[in-house]
Amino acid sequence: MVKLNQNYKALQQSYLFSTIANKVKAFQQANPDARIIRLGIGDVTMPLVTPVVDALKNASAEMGVKETFRGYGDEQGYGFLIDAVADYYKREMGVTLGAGSVFISDGAKSDVANFTDLFDNDNVIVIPDPVYPVYMDSNVMLGRKISLIRGTEENGFLPMPTDDLEGDIFYLCSPNNPTGAVYTKQQLKQWVDFALKKGALIFFDAAYESFIVDPDLPRSIYQIEGAERCAVEFCSLSKTAGFTGTRCGYTIVPKEIEIDGQSLNRMWLRRQTTKYNGTAYIIQRGAEAVFTEEGYRACKENIAYYLGNAKVIADTLDELGIWYTGGINSPYIWLKCGMNSWDFFDRLLNECGIVGTPGSGFGACGEGYFRLTAFNTRENTIEAMQRFKTMFKQK
Ligand code: PLP
Repeated sequence: MVKLNQNYKALQQSYLFSTIANKVKAFQQANPDARIIRLGIGDVTMPLVTPVVDALKNASAEMGVKETFRGYGDEQGYGFLIDAVADYYKREMGVTLGAGSVFISDGAKSDVANFTDLFDNDNVIVIPDPVYPVYMDSNVMLGRKISLIRGTEENGFLPMPTDDLEGDIFYLCSPNNPTGAVYTKQQLKQWVDFALKKGALIFFDAAYESFIVDPDLPRSIYQIEGAERCAVEFCSLSKTAGFTGTRCGYTIVPKEIEIDGQSLNRMWLRRQTTKYNGTAYIIQRGAEAVFTEEGYRACKENIAYYLGNAKVIADTLDELGIWYTGGINSPYIWLKCGMNSWDFFDRLLNECGIVGTPGSGFGACGEGYFRLTAFNTRENTIEAMQRFKTMFKQK
């Protein structure tokens, strides 16, 4: 008889987005004239920038011509895109990536979830709470031992290592989803020193790095000395360039990382060449255009627009004296709602027609907090914040 992976039974059912959808539907039915504003969107809303669209068109045309048609590409990604990523790290972050360390993929979700394949079940996996749920679920699927580190108001939702913290693999996400909190260089240095001392690994998710506008904040963990010996970095063009539906990301696996005499880079290459046949040529050409001067400038304009929305939200919370993280170097604003986060969701929907995301959906430590996002239009964000203020002032 077929035997299933029993670990799937241990996955917690996620009712977060379906419950939100049902509540919104019921509200709309009861209030057909209400204009709902969605500040729960975790997806980009601005279209691809022109240099990317042009590159996608040109590459599509190449595929229709015998002389320029391409079949299977390198599993690790085309050299032109790997070089563009390396050049971007040099230019934007002052980081020199080692040859052969960049792997192009179809996005950060698959890489971050697949990377855990390379490790034995006998590791302790340490995951922040609250955080992007994929870290947890991809490890539960493999029956891994998981321990949580708590994000709280006291640590600004940026958990730090302590001498007695046990674990082998540590996930860090900065800027964080859902809290928008960003580690400083000093804080990341503590993590890197801790990992090197313990012989542990850091999985660093930098999916929102391009939202960092403060030049003192690190956008890559490799801006910290020693990280090339203990950290793998996952990144994506989803939020940088609106590629959520186009799909392209990259993972950096430094050749310096050796565990038990084995190169992690070589293991990941082996895994990818066996289980992945590469990101589409057309998409890689579109991604290459993101890193050109013109392409990146256009992407930055979209990011500035989202950050402008985030500022509208952050300014409102400042005015109302509500505690929050994020909103400056991140599209996410994580506010303290001072009540059960589902009750707050209901209140915001019923009294303001605003949809956000209850913090408890991202982990137990998210209870009492609420996520708003900057991905709606400026006009809607301004109107939502006016409604929000009215609600608070009536309280
Ligand atoms: N990492 C974080 C922290 C995210 O929030 C997301 C998407 O929302 C991803 C990774 C997934 O990115 P991608 O679209 O590249 O798979």
